[in-house]
Amino acid sequence: MSTIRLGCIADDFTGATDLANNLVRAGMRVVQTIGVPTAPLAADVDCVVVALKSRTIPAAEAVAQSLDALQWLQAQGAQQIYFKYCSTFDSTAAGNIGPVTEALMQALGTDFTIATPAFPDNKRTVFKGYLFVGDVLLNESGMQNHPLTPMTDPNLVRVLQAQTKRKVGLIDHLVVARGADAVRARIAELRAEGVAMAVVDAVSNDDLMRMGPALGELPLLTAGSGVAIGLPANFGFAPSSQASALPAAAGLQAVVSGSCSIATNRQVMAFIQSGRPAMAIDPLRIASGADVTAEVLDWAGPLIAQGPVLVYSTAETQAIKAVQARLGVEEAGAMVERTIAAIARGLVELGVRQLVVAGGETSGACVQALGVSQMQIGPQIDPGVPWTHVLAEAAGGAGVHVTLKSGNFGADDFFTKAFKVLA
Ligand code: ADP
Repeated sequence: MSTIRLGCIADDFTGATDLANNLVRAGMRVVQTIGVPTAPLAADVDCVVVALKSRTIPAAEAVAQSLDALQWLQAQGAQQIYFKYCSTFDSTAAGNIGPVTEALMQALGTDFTIATPAFPDNKRTVFKGYLFVGDVLLNESGMQNHPLTPMTDPNLVRVLQAQTKRKVGLIDHLVVARGADAVRARIAELRAEGVAMAVVDAVSNDDLMRMGPALGELPLLTAGSGVAIGLPANFGFAPSSQASALPAAAGLQAVVSGSCSIATNRQVMAFIQSGRPAMAIDPLRIASGADVTAEVLDWAGPLIAQGPVLVYSTAETQAIKAVQARLGVEEAGAMVERTIAAIARGLVELGVRQLVVAGGETSGACVQALGVSQMQIGPQIDPGVPWTHVLAEAAGGAGVHVTLKSGNFGADDFFTKAFKVLA
C-alpha cells in the first residue's frame, strides 16, 4: 500500500475527474475512485479523489458519505483534505456545502478553512466574494433557473452563511494580490475574529498560484477544481509527463454517446463526416422491446477490427422532446442510459480496450456496467477531459483505457482526436 499526500472528496462524478485532471497536470499521480472504496488502495499514487454523488441528496446523507470518505482517505495517509464542489457553488438553501464543510472541520479538529469555487480557466471568477460566470454574476448566468440547485444570490459569503452556524468571512482580492504572506496574515486575523470559513477571491490563475503556499498549512480546503493548480507544489511536485503516464494502449476502439449537449451533437456529426462507421439508437425501438443492444453488437462486431465505431443516442432538442413526451423524461433517460451501458459492456467483451463515453449521467451508467471501481488519471485530451486507465470486470479484470466526457466539453474532433492522444 502506498501513502497518499492529498485526499479529495468530490460531490459529483465528472467534477471529480475535472479536479483529478488539474492535479495530474500540476505533477501529482492521481487515482479517482467510484464511491468510497472498501479495500486499501492498490496503486502507488500521490493523491486520491473519491467521487461521491452527494450534491443534491439530503444533507445528513451527504455528511455521512463525506465522513466515510474522510476516514478512508486518512487510513491511506492523506495529509490534507480537499472537499471539491462545483465552480458555480451548486447547493440548496439546506446545503450541502455548508453542512459537509462543518462536519469535515469537526472531524479534522480544525477551526478554519477556505471556500473558493474560482476556476478562471473555465471563466468562473470570484471578486469581493461575488461569483461571476463569464461576464455576468452567478444569478444572471442561467444558474438562477437550475432545476435542482437554483443560485439566486451571487454573494458567496451570504450563500455559505445561510448554510452554516459557523461564522463566514472574506479574503478579498486586495489581500490575494499581495501574495501568500498577506493571505496567511489575513487568515490569522479572521481566526482571531472567530471566522471559521473564508471565501477567497480569485480572478486569474496567478491568484490561485499566489494563494497556494498559504493553503499548505490548512488541514482542510473546500473549493472548485481551480485551487488544485497551486497545491501540488506545496508537496514538492512540479508538472511532469510522468504524472499522467498510463500503461500502453492496445485493443479495439469505440465511442458511445448518450449526451445530447450541443458540443456532443457537433462531435457526433464530425465523426460521421470523417467517414467512420456510426450507428444511431432509437429510444422508441428500445421502448417497443427490440433487443437494440444485440443489434448494435452484431453491427459493430465485423467493423471494429478496422478502426473506431460510434454508437449514439445523441439527438437534437426536438427529437428528444418527442421521445420524452411519449416515454416520460426520467424513464426515457434511464432506459437510454441502461442500453448504452449494456452496449459499452458488450463492446468491451468484444475486445474494445479504448473507449470514449460522452455524457455525464451516461458515464456513470457505463462505469457501473463495466465493473470499474478505480480510475488512474492520464493525459488530457481537451480541457477537463483526461484519458483514464481502469481494471474492468467486463474485460475479465484486464486494463481498459476509458475517457468520460461530460456534455459540453471537448472540441468538435474530440472522438477522433482522443485516440490520437492515446497513440
Ligand atoms: P450530458 O453530459 O450531455 O448532460 P448526460 O448523459 O448526463 O449527458 O445526460 C443525457 C441524458 O439524456 C441521459 O439520461 C440520456 O440517457 C438521455 N438521452 C440520451 N439520448 C436521448 C434521446 N435520444 N432521447 C431521450 N433521452 C435521451
